[in-house]
Amino acid sequence: MTTLQPARSLSRAKVSSSHEPSRAELLEYYLIHHEDLARCTYASLEWLARYAGTKRSMCLVADHDAGVLMGVAGHGVPSEAVDLFTWPLSDERDPLVAALAAPAPVVIQPGRVDGQVGKATPATPLGAGPFTAIPLRGVNAAEQNAVGLLLLRPGAASSGDISWLATVLGQKIDQIRGRGSLAEEVRQLRRERALLFTIVNSVTDPILLTDTEGRLILANARAEKLFAATEEESEGRRRAVELNNMLFSAALSRTAVEGQSEARELLLVDPSEGSDLLFEVLSSTVEDPREGTGIVSVLRNITDLRRATEQIEENYQRLRMLEATARAERDRLNLIIDSVADPIIVTDPVGETVLMNAPAEDLFTVPGDAPDTAERNVQSNDAHFSSFISGLLLGETGPGEIRRGEIGLANPMSSEPIPVEAIAGKVQSESGELTAVVTILHDRREALERAHLYEQLKLGSEELQARVQAATAELATQNELLRRQAIELEQASRLKSQFLANMSHEFRTPLNAILGYTHMLLQGVAGDVLPAVKRQLQRIDSNGRHLLTIINEILDITRIEAGKMPIQVTDFDANEIVPEVMAELEAVISRSKLTVTPTLAPDPPFVRGDRQKVKQIVVNLLSNALKFTHQGGVDICVSAEPGTQMVSISVSDTGIGIAPEHHERIFEDFRQVDDSPSRQYGGTGLGLAISRRLATAMGGRITLHSNLGQGSIFTLAIPMEAPQ
Ligand code: ADP
Repeated sequence: MTTLQPARSLSRAKVSSSHEPSRAELLEYYLIHHEDLARCTYASLEWLARYAGTKRSMCLVADHDAGVLMGVAGHGVPSEAVDLFTWPLSDERDPLVAALAAPAPVVIQPGRVDGQVGKATPATPLGAGPFTAIPLRGVNAAEQNAVGLLLLRPGAASSGDISWLATVLGQKIDQIRGRGSLAEEVRQLRRERALLFTIVNSVTDPILLTDTEGRLILANARAEKLFAATEEESEGRRRAVELNNMLFSAALSRTAVEGQSEARELLLVDPSEGSDLLFEVLSSTVEDPREGTGIVSVLRNITDLRRATEQIEENYQRLRMLEATARAERDRLNLIIDSVADPIIVTDPVGETVLMNAPAEDLFTVPGDAPDTAERNVQSNDAHFSSFISGLLLGETGPGEIRRGEIGLANPMSSEPIPVEAIAGKVQSESGELTAVVTILHDRREALERAHLYEQLKLGSEELQARVQAATAELATQNELLRRQAIELEQASRLKSQFLANMSHEFRTPLNAILGYTHMLLQGVAGDVLPAVKRQLQRIDSNGRHLLTIINEILDITRIEAGKMPIQVTDFDANEIVPEVMAELEAVISRSKLTVTPTLAPDPPFVRGDRQKVKQIVVNLLSNALKFTHQGGVDICVSAEPGTQMVSISVSDTGIGIAPEHHERIFEDFRQVDDSPSRQYGGTGLGLAISRRLATAMGGRITLHSNLGQGSIFTLAIPMEAPQ
């Protein structure tokens, strides 16, 4: 017998103010009607605990036939210790044996018994320490030896209830003993009880028997673990047990209030591990005519069951989610397949079509109102397609591979041939099993057309390339030719310049001699000259000087081109140039009958350059102005251009003007606006070309503002430098 504790109350014991009803209760329910020794004694000890406050107690019965004292019941002590307790009656000096014969309760102290020093305290299940042994007398109280002993702790407790109980219990034991052999009864009792306890304890579910007020009458070992704890056990365990008791009481009272009902769940605490335990409580009421109404509760541990249920629920939810995902995935796939412009066909492992998008339907289905040819075309398309994928289904490709090929299909309605490129791939399950074949057909007409165009383009491009190469070679030849011509021209130009320079030089010497002699003749060195001869001589002089000017200009330009015209840079006052130029051209001015108006700069404008060359330029500009102006006047204006550090000498006239398209040309060598042989104005066309070159050599420039018939303004600008 492992364990089965005697009755313990699940709820706090109610203490009656009067003992009479409780005594009556004990007598009524246990001692009068029961003939069961163990039940009577247990009930008595429980009663004592409740009403006299005894913490530990034990009942011993004397079996004189066997010569022993036997434990029958206990309270607050382990039941197996009570069951196993026997004490020999042979030693009369033994404190317990002596107590049997004692007239009144005996307090047995450690180390001594009523003055018998040296006798050891008997070892009882009550534990070490003093206890009171009360002799239980039979019906014939005068009999010397009591029928049993009531052992109580703490030691000296003695009250009316205790002595009353000792009296009635003694008489009850005596009465039961009177019916037969006490020892045999006790043994029988123990056997039955042991069997019952074994059965109940072997049940793995906790089983509890409670009275209608919730007091625990019986609990098996499993229930003990949940609902009982001794004081020696840990605080945590005791608290868990207390909590379990409260929860169970609450559940029982609910059952009582709501009536007999089906199983209900009860959440308890595992006192050893502290984890939650979920039980299903099945309570049923048992009626006993003598014991009254009791409630048997069987607790079934459904913690694992609940966990498994939750797991199943969770798996089910997960499955539903996966199903929804798969459905969404399929919808998405359908959408994708439908939105693809190329025909897509999904076939099952035996080659039956299970899905196709709209473009595929156009090729493989016959519209309702289609002609017979359409049906034939669709059959032909089907045959071509089936033959293509049969290769894949027969395993000509390895797993996961794709098959490519070209199929000749036809438009069912128009019978127009449609060459397509077919790409088919296997869809396999996780276990490698073939589940479907997806085939995409790509119309190759556009690609073929493009390839054709590309070929043409390539041919055209190659032809063009050949032509470009030929043209490039031609160009290279031309370039070479031009280069040679340029070299030749350069050489010719150099020779021309050289020739002109030589010739000019050669011309100048005899011309100067002619002018010299003419001058001498006019001066009368060779005697008086007749007026008619003098006029002729003056014409020779005039024409000779004109020729000299031309020769000088040609010489200048050839010198400049040959780089033989050095610039003598000095700082000078530009204002001084104007009167000098006017003086030099005085004869021309007076001949032209034009008014030349000089306007000088208020502050002497110093410039940096070749004074002689500046003067030469201004002479050229003024002589041109006088030459191309028939009426009006000419202005020469010197000014400093603020901000640019330049000094300007501008010559403006009211002459014939120059059209804008000639503005640049007239600065070229030998260029004139009118360069026809019958031109009206003389000149070489070199004056402005020389002037611009000289201005540039000094860091300056010549600009022109003019329009045909509106006069001209030529402006020379040269760099200024502040006087030292
Ligand atoms: P030339 O005066 O010897 O012909 P230039 O080089 O000095 O050579 O001038 C070139 C040409 O520019 C002139 O022939 C003339 O046609 C034009 N030209 C120059 N100055 C003026 C001007 N002030 N008014 C009109 N035309 C002019």
